[in-house]
Amino acid sequence: MGCCDTPGLMPVSSAIDILLDNTSPLTQTEIVSLVDAQNRITSEDIRSPINVPPFANSAMDGYALRCADLNNNMTLRLAGKSFAGIPFEGEWPAGSCIRIMTGAEVPVGADAVIMQEQTTVNGDDITFTHTAELQQNIRPIGNDVEAGDVVIPKGTLLTPREVPMLATLGIGTVTVMRRPKVAFFSTGDELRQVGEALGKGEIYDSNRYTIRAMLEKMHCEAIDLGVVPDCPEQLRNAFLKAASEADVIVTSGGVSVGEADYTKDILDQEGEVGFWKIAIKPGKPFAFGKVKGALFCGLPGNPVSVLVTLHVLVQPLLAKLAGHTQWQPTITLSAKAETRFRKSPGRADYQRAVYRINEQGELVVATTGNQGSGAFSSLSIANCFAVLEQDRGHIDVGENVTIEPFGTVLN
Ligand code: AMP
Ligand code: MG
Repeated sequence: MGCCDTPGLMPVSSAIDILLDNTSPLTQTEIVSLVDAQNRITSEDIRSPINVPPFANSAMDGYALRCADLNNNMTLRLAGKSFAGIPFEGEWPAGSCIRIMTGAEVPVGADAVIMQEQTTVNGDDITFTHTAELQQNIRPIGNDVEAGDVVIPKGTLLTPREVPMLATLGIGTVTVMRRPKVAFFSTGDELRQVGEALGKGEIYDSNRYTIRAMLEKMHCEAIDLGVVPDCPEQLRNAFLKAASEADVIVTSGGVSVGEADYTKDILDQEGEVGFWKIAIKPGKPFAFGKVKGALFCGLPGNPVSVLVTLHVLVQPLLAKLAGHTQWQPTITLSAKAETRFRKSPGRADYQRAVYRINEQGELVVATTGNQGSGAFSSLSIANCFAVLEQDRGHIDVGENVTIEPFGTVLN
């Protein structure tokens, strides 16, 4: 992959480019019913089979009429009614009007609707207090969508903004991309499962919870392979099992100096792997490769590094694999630092921070304090990353800082 040859630390954007260059979208598709379509990604353009609305209808409760009739007389005789689902059928004489409700079909010949608030009613005589403009309060046929229009392009994630659109079109099943299968495990002799008692020198495995939660938010099929000790044979078995079950293997730990050798030896035999040092903090050590056809992302062990590298590096890869061509990284904004941010030049920092609008209406951002790569507690009080550019040093109060508010994957 050429990634190991890069001298020094690899900029984040270069790492993402290599990850994407080595990832091809899945090709298999599935047909799902509309009730199961949320969070799936369209595998083809969806065209409308019908016009929406399918017939010209009224935007108001009022009276449908011919505008020209009001030139002679502002009072028209009521000739019938058109209600939603029960349209007016038949002829209606010149100088008359039709009672009409919102969404009801506009009778043939009517060229405007006047809302009922602009009338006085005396039995069947309706007096209009306002004149009408042609087509006023009429929603024309196909006004929203024309039959044959592409309403949802290929590669769109279906959300509450698209699913009802499909229902509006009468589309009951959708062809979607197969979801990426991602097998994951934690590595480390020191790790205990939640529920077990901690022995001396042991800690709980939290990274699998981070990985699972984020994979689910990224709409992947998550396959949990548990905790694997730092033992070459068990690691090899875990990699082979993961590769046989999944499109992507995500691991935590075992990629920093020293430990990496285990993983490297196994992957050199079973696939190809590059160990990178990325100019990102936290998250510098990262491994990427292929194991028997599966992509492999080896995350560092530190809990905050896991979350940051999943977010920054693995997320674009999974989006491409999933065929989510409309995927975009979370928006970034410029905010004014209201605290100092400690930083050394050399890596792009993803610091946990809190943004808000201050009393002067400005977007400001403050550090959450402890930025240690194991300090998970400062994540839950944060609402954004302060993304501090690679070459930047300390940031003083009042300087501008790029922030990335937490989006759907981290909320
Ligand atoms: P490693 O990259 O394996 O050297 O791990 C770096 C640090 O992260 C060490 O302090 C590990 O104990 C810790 N760590 C590794 N894996 C996990 C995990 N699954 N959950 C919580 N902490 C971990
Ligand atoms: Mg370890």
